[in-house]
Amino acid sequence: MSLLDDVAQLEKEALREIEGADSLESLNELQIKFLGRKGCLTAILKTLGKLPVEERKAAGARANQIRRTLEECFQRATEKFTVKKDKTFFDPTLPGTGYRPGVVHIINRVMGEICHTFYGMGFEIARGPHVETDYYNFEALNFPPDHPARDMQDTFFVEGDRLLRTHTTPVQPRELEKRQPPVKIITPGKTFRNEEISTRAHVSFHQVDGFLVDEGVTMGDLKGALVAFCRAFFGDELKLKFRPSFFPFTEPSAEVDISCFLCRGKGCQLCKYSGWLEILGCGMIHPNVLENCGYDSEKYTGYAFGMGVERVAMLKYEINDIRLFFNNNLRFLRQFA
Ligand SMILES: [Zn+2]
Repeated sequence: MSLLDDVAQLEKEALREIEGADSLESLNELQIKFLGRKGCLTAILKTLGKLPVEERKAAGARANQIRRTLEECFQRATEKFTVKKDKTFFDPTLPGTGYRPGVVHIINRVMGEICHTFYGMGFEIARGPHVETDYYNFEALNFPPDHPARDMQDTFFVEGDRLLRTHTTPVQPRELEKRQPPVKIITPGKTFRNEEISTRAHVSFHQVDGFLVDEGVTMGDLKGALVAFCRAFFGDELKLKFRPSFFPFTEPSAEVDISCFLCRGKGCQLCKYSGWLEILGCGMIHPNVLENCGYDSEKYTGYAFGMGVERVAMLKYEINDIRLFFNNNLRFLRQFA
């Protein structure tokens, strides 16, 4: 076997072993084994002197070439182990971390959508204080002094005649006092009731109330406005059902059901197989309320309606627990991003 064959064999062996090295330590050992002063390559080079001049030249050049190749391989293999330990190393193939932008809370979004729909129908938006007086919350709205809603069980009293408003309807007398007809307003906002917290009830929730006062306003106008809203909000071709009801501040009063938008009235879990969903309360503003605000109830009439934002959101997005809105669980909230 010639010297050239030995050198070629050595190169092959060295490259294979460098490839298989699994640590910096084993690489160092290999480097000593092949390129060190007492290493394999040196041992071969020592035999060069015994060769004829021509052969010696060719073998020497070949040996030097292999030394360079192996040195480069060792360099690359060493980088493979050292670079990983470097904290500034950037691996562009890893998935990014990303930043999620904040989103509007689902309740604010649904409230905004309700307002937007009525705004398109010519309603102005008005807001009132959370801490309300007994007068605007109850008396101006024709609640008799012994009405059960004034009871300690329903109302959070603050001090004196102050309380946390139990509905957004107090904005109605507040705005009517300030304005001249026609008055066409919706009042979105937070309300408070002293209730046991459950899947269906919470101590704080949101309402959107609306009303119109002018000459010659009829129940037909109310119906038209609500049909237009419900179809714009829940979907075309919905049917509305008006059931007689009672509120101190409206006469006559009605509860409105819409045909279930999920099953189209056929019956499903959402509508409890009735085909109908209870959605809002409404009626013609009680003459006493108009008189309380300084309006001639012989000349002016008006309608009013109100709905719970949580209830609308729960129906629209099939959410089964009102407490989810207030838990600030990002996994829940991000679904509506
Ligand atoms: Zn249904």
